[in-house]
Amino acid sequence: MSSHPKRGNPAVPDSVREVHEALQVDLEWLRRQPGQATERVINLSKEWINTVCADTEARAGEAAELAASFSLHSDGTLLLRGRLRGGIVVPCGRCLGDAVVDAGEEMCLTVLPAARIRDYMKKAPGDEADGVELVASDLDEIFYEGDAVDLSDVVREQLLLAFPMRVLCALGEACRGMCGRCGAMVNDMPADATNCSACKAPFMEDEADGEDREDEIPEWKRKLMGLSEGS
Ligand SMILES: [Zn+2]
Ligand SMILES: [Zn+2]
Repeated sequence: MSSHPKRGNPAVPDSVREVHEALQVDLEWLRRQPGQATERVINLSKEWINTVCADTEARAGEAAELAASFSLHSDGTLLLRGRLRGGIVVPCGRCLGDAVVDAGEEMCLTVLPAARIRDYMKKAPGDEADGVELVASDLDEIFYEGDAVDLSDVVREQLLLAFPMRVLCALGEACRGMCGRCGAMVNDMPADATNCSACKAPFMEDEADGEDREDEIPEWKRKLMGLSEGS
């Protein structure tokens, strides 16, 4: 297991700090190349990804990167188009073994100067009570102050959005998961085994295919199971 840097730890490793710094977009620098998109590839270290995944079941697979194209308009609007590349590792939905997921996500983002939304609110004071606050947080846009845009939150969010609800390990549909009674790894047992080699319990069909387990069992089926157990 890799060690996760603790939150609030003053000794942030270089590999984490460097990514954070690379995710600060310098608008002054972009202004020097007006009217053209500026390409940049930002490496996202495993250590940084692990800080993003710290409260989840996932961890970094390989180092990832964000390939982005920035264009800054004369009104201060920054457009970002990019693509996240790289792997995260999450537990297999059946056996809890490693399942590699490509976090490849297209990103499209509009970043507006915060001053503009303030001007807007000044011009439309009547709307303030009707939830202009809401507008700012609901828009798929972020705001910046000064000459730098911090992309870390956005990229962090994108990475977390890439997590699948359910994913299978390299065995794919052939993964037979764990014994429903003792948790032993069924994948390690002979392919034709009908009983768990650890606890000897017979495999139920549902465990073998791993699809209908726990709370996913429909109501009608649960009733049927209750009937057959009672008889
Ligand atoms: Zn598996
Ligand atoms: Zn067992």
